[in-house]
Amino acid sequence: QKKEWAKLVNEPSSTMDGHQVELAANIGTPNDLDGVKNNGAEGVGLYRTEFLYMGRDELPNEEEQFQAYKKVVEEMNGKPVVIRTLDIGGDKELPYLDLPKEMNPFLGFRAIRLCLEKDDMFRTQLRALLRASAFGNLKIMFPMIATLDEFRQGKQMLEEERGALLEKGVDVSRDIEIGIMVEIPSTAVMAPQFAKEVDFFSIGTNDLIQYTMAADRMNEQVSYLYQPYNPAILRLVKMVIDASHQEGKWTGMCGEMAGDPIAIPLLLGLGLDEFSMSATSILPARSQLSKLTKEEAEKAVEKALQMNTAQEVKDYVEKTFLN
Ligand code: PEP
Ligand code: MG
Repeated sequence: QKKEWAKLVNEPSSTMDGHQVELAANIGTPNDLDGVKNNGAEGVGLYRTEFLYMGRDELPNEEEQFQAYKKVVEEMNGKPVVIRTLDIGGDKELPYLDLPKEMNPFLGFRAIRLCLEKDDMFRTQLRALLRASAFGNLKIMFPMIATLDEFRQGKQMLEEERGALLEKGVDVSRDIEIGIMVEIPSTAVMAPQFAKEVDFFSIGTNDLIQYTMAADRMNEQVSYLYQPYNPAILRLVKMVIDASHQEGKWTGMCGEMAGDPIAIPLLLGLGLDEFSMSATSILPARSQLSKLTKEEAEKAVEKALQMNTAQEVKDYVEKTFLN
């Protein structure tokens, strides 16, 4: 199997009937790039920038961030790189920010909520991203968007910083795609409205499942509710993909579900455009896709969407595709 996968490193990701998708990698630091290239990723679908901010005593400055972002886009050599703005809070803390303890950190002051409030910190990151955009194919993505207003505010700040940099004569790409993570059910439901304003969606199923099922993703006792194949989740994913295509936009997925062999036929059937996963899952996923057809995947997901339970969906996919 390993040998078969190795042959696929430089191959496109396409199904037996010629439908192409993008298989991208999730990274946490520029040090992950070797794995990305060795495993034949067609891009970076999620660069989690919070690691730049963690394990230290103060915020990283603009120059330091710029160097990290520039390194990633340069090394990816024109391939798309989706960089997510700071997603701190929830399970990830930054002691030096001195944030108040919260009763429900996952429902609290985190990610874009915190960035819009601490806008000096956010604007520093945006400037670093804008400057790095001149060196490759950089896309910017906001995490934990719950309302259109949050997206508009974030985008407004980005445009202001872009204007200021251009005025100073700094080189900035003029066509940076700006997207959002879909990890809150309200945003999935409102996808048709969002799709008119964003350039792309990336579905964060790790959080989307947690918020849809109201089951803490870290809590073993409720892990039985953590159900990627629940038709409720599949329906939300469908709403997002359909809404994006309606407006000529694209949808990716960067939660764990994107690299899961049981989910892959379903996501293919739903028309997912980009699958972003840990680098080591890319070649197995490419191999799996090469043996599927889009047509059979569409038929299968149509059935799955009408099923009653996650278990039914799982059994059906295993029986149909995994033997
Ligand atoms: C997600 O929520 O699916 C996601 C990719 O983000 P994180 O795991 O960093 O919360
Ligand atoms: Mg998330």
